[in-house]
Amino acid sequence: MTPPAPEPPSPPPLPALAEGARLRRLSEVKSALRHRLNLVNASYISATHLLALLAWVPFLYAPEGFRGVMGLYLLCHAALALLSTTAYAHRLVSHGATKRISWPVHVLFGYIGQTLAAQGSLASWAGKHRVHHAVDGHARHDEDPYSAVWFESAWRNFVWSHVLCYFFDSPHEEGVYAERAEAVLKQNGVMRLQHRYYVVFLLVMNFLTPLALGALVGGTLWAGLCLMWTAVLACVVVQNVTWSVNSFTHMWGAPAAKSSAKNNYVWLLPLGEGNHHADHHDAPTDYRNGFGLLGWLSDPTRYVLLSLRALRLVGPLQRATRATELRVLAERRLATLAALAQRSPAAAREALGGYEERLMSLKARALEHAQRAEQLQRERVRLLSRRASMSRAQLKEQLFVLKVEWRRARSELRHAWEMFLIEALLAGRALRGA
Ligand SMILES: [Zn+2]
Ligand SMILES: [Zn+2]
Repeated sequence: MTPPAPEPPSPPPLPALAEGARLRRLSEVKSALRHRLNLVNASYISATHLLALLAWVPFLYAPEGFRGVMGLYLLCHAALALLSTTAYAHRLVSHGATKRISWPVHVLFGYIGQTLAAQGSLASWAGKHRVHHAVDGHARHDEDPYSAVWFESAWRNFVWSHVLCYFFDSPHEEGVYAERAEAVLKQNGVMRLQHRYYVVFLLVMNFLTPLALGALVGGTLWAGLCLMWTAVLACVVVQNVTWSVNSFTHMWGAPAAKSSAKNNYVWLLPLGEGNHHADHHDAPTDYRNGFGLLGWLSDPTRYVLLSLRALRLVGPLQRATRATELRVLAERRLATLAALAQRSPAAAREALGGYEERLMSLKARALEHAQRAEQLQRERVRLLSRRASMSRAQLKEQLFVLKVEWRRARSELRHAWEMFLIEALLAGRALRGA
């Protein structure tokens, strides 16, 4: 893998939404935002969704004993496509959670899984996803390709961010998407073939392969068609599950510190992407989605990544430092308080003023202790790397000193963080009580 290429700039703001204006009707994406209907995408998505709705037909009239094969195929197709999207396309490629991805991972998850997911080539998917995150940096959520904030009404935002955004091209942003896709290919050159011949891969793997496999196993053309229909159903299920991350988790739940993402618990089907989505948007290169114990309990994708790492199929995985985690949690709490203050009467906002300064200084103190604890850990690693140059007694003594200091830093960190949380709780109470 080559080192990450510099990110191309974001597009200029959409004039129709420059002043924070909101659209009233879905048709305004054409008139006001100059989007163009992509007939091929719109027809493909509509036709496959219609077939998926009618998928009870092949299951009802499948050849004798063939239903089990169809069920197994559906499960395998959906599981591989979903895992490829969450573990590989999302965390490893889009966010560079590791610096090394081996070719077997590219073949299994990139060429096979990402084609089965039927959401465009890996490069175009990851490129667009990087734009989805890039808008966090300058808070221009209007530029999000799956924007959930364009419309006045919640259901229009839902329909747009969930599915309709794939029906349209945005000439305004095409250049940026293409540049981002090229940057992805520069880092993952082995995926260039899938990008160039994506339609061929899609037709062969999602239609011709199940058709041939079904005909071979079932012995009739109808069996082949049944398995092909099953593959269409699997694609549609996977698409809707993935799209739900862009729709649900950007509309409902607890807000993130700086993005339009929300923490909610739509997590099981998107395999950990829905839950703690806000943690992900606030610390996107972290291979985990979700800090702390709750993250371990509700993020199955991380176990796949840890397994790939254990098998040495990917390089070391990046994770946010404790200081970053604390900063994110503190900023989120402060953002929640600010939002509460906005909804509260003027007297309550004044009450918050007294807490504000103390909260900021407690946050700074917690970060200081977190950085100190991390620095001591780095010193320990350095010391161990120089162990050959000192006596056993010297090494033991210095390790002991570091351990004592590290324990103190950790307990001070815990204390500072507890004080911050208590203060935030009191500020929240003051706001609600005023
Ligand atoms: Zn992401
Ligand atoms: Zn997101």
